[in-house]
Amino acid sequence: MQVPLLDFKKQYQGLKEEILKEISDVCDSQHFVLGDKVQKLEKEIAEYCNAEFACGVTSGSDALIISLMVEDIGAGDEVITTPFTFFATVGAICRVGATPVFVDVDPDTFNIDPAKIEEKITSKTKAIIPVHLFGQCCDMDAINSIAKKHELIVIEDACQSIGAEFNGKRAGSMGDYGCFSFYPTKNLGCFGDGGMVTTNDEKKAELLHIFRNHGQGSTYIHKHIGGNFRLDALQAAVLSIKLRELDSWSTAREANAAEYRKLFAASKIGDKVKLPFVANYASKHIYNQFSILVADGKRDELCSKLREANVGCGIYYPLSLHLQECFKSLGYQEGDMPVSEKLSKEILALPIFPESTSEQRQCVVDTIEKILCG
Ligand SMILES: *Cc1c(COP(=O)(O)O)cnc(C)c1O
Repeated sequence: MQVPLLDFKKQYQGLKEEILKEISDVCDSQHFVLGDKVQKLEKEIAEYCNAEFACGVTSGSDALIISLMVEDIGAGDEVITTPFTFFATVGAICRVGATPVFVDVDPDTFNIDPAKIEEKITSKTKAIIPVHLFGQCCDMDAINSIAKKHELIVIEDACQSIGAEFNGKRAGSMGDYGCFSFYPTKNLGCFGDGGMVTTNDEKKAELLHIFRNHGQGSTYIHKHIGGNFRLDALQAAVLSIKLRELDSWSTAREANAAEYRKLFAASKIGDKVKLPFVANYASKHIYNQFSILVADGKRDELCSKLREANVGCGIYYPLSLHLQECFKSLGYQEGDMPVSEKLSKEILALPIFPESTSEQRQCVVDTIEKILCG
């Protein structure tokens, strides 16, 4: 049996007719950038995320960059974030000229550890970017109270967590900004690159819309230096259709996770692997990834043997960001972020996509059992 890590072909087949019709409509209109389709999607995403406003942008990476730009964060400023995330979180901080300051993660949730934030705050700190990793929110009460005390901006990196909830509150509705990606492998993916920023602040929303179009207030009159961060009408049209299905896909991912837990419990694998932890406050986990921890230095071997057996798996992320060559000048050393470093050696993502089958999950767990228990 083949078990791919990801396969959205079935999902597309179910929506193909509707999507192709919408794409054809956009082509007929010859209106490809911003416009009605983008405005419609912005309203829908704001509503879905329980935020007041939303601004469609080119990608999740640009969602982070434009949020920092609107806050005028740049050279000489520090931004606190996690070393255990996709590169773009930290790349965005550097792209605006600011300095990323890493805070190690919680060993259970893999998200930034709020207890370690305050010791990293200096007079230069301007913002915190918590990342809701793999579909589970950070401890936003703790983070927001630190931010409030020190007057810091909070930019939620919710690129992996659209629809996830912290005590009933949706990702992207709790900070000053919420950043989303519609890269095809995210839970809500478009047919290329796309992103969105949510906010509850009308002034910030207005600035986001100005900055994404080269800082133009009215045509050819520039009050700010923005950039081209405009979302395509074609992507917006596809996303509006897919958004209607998002809750059912998230429910399927949760059910798949629950099934994995039963299958692992019934196997001989025991504590050779640790299953994803769900925090008490995580009233909704959307399982962008189902990442297990593999003990005793066996992760790499397990990963390559699974792939040999045609079982897909992924390593997010194999090298903690503070140890990346491009961030050498920041001066971090091995041992500085022990939790993140340990996770990068033990983490392994298993197939969890909504259309994956019970037979496939049984095959994944059987194969792991065979490899780890002989
Ligand atoms: C995917 C992702 C991004 C970047 O999104 P793009 O749309 O690929 O630019 C940023 N942060 C996190 C945590 C992500 O998973």
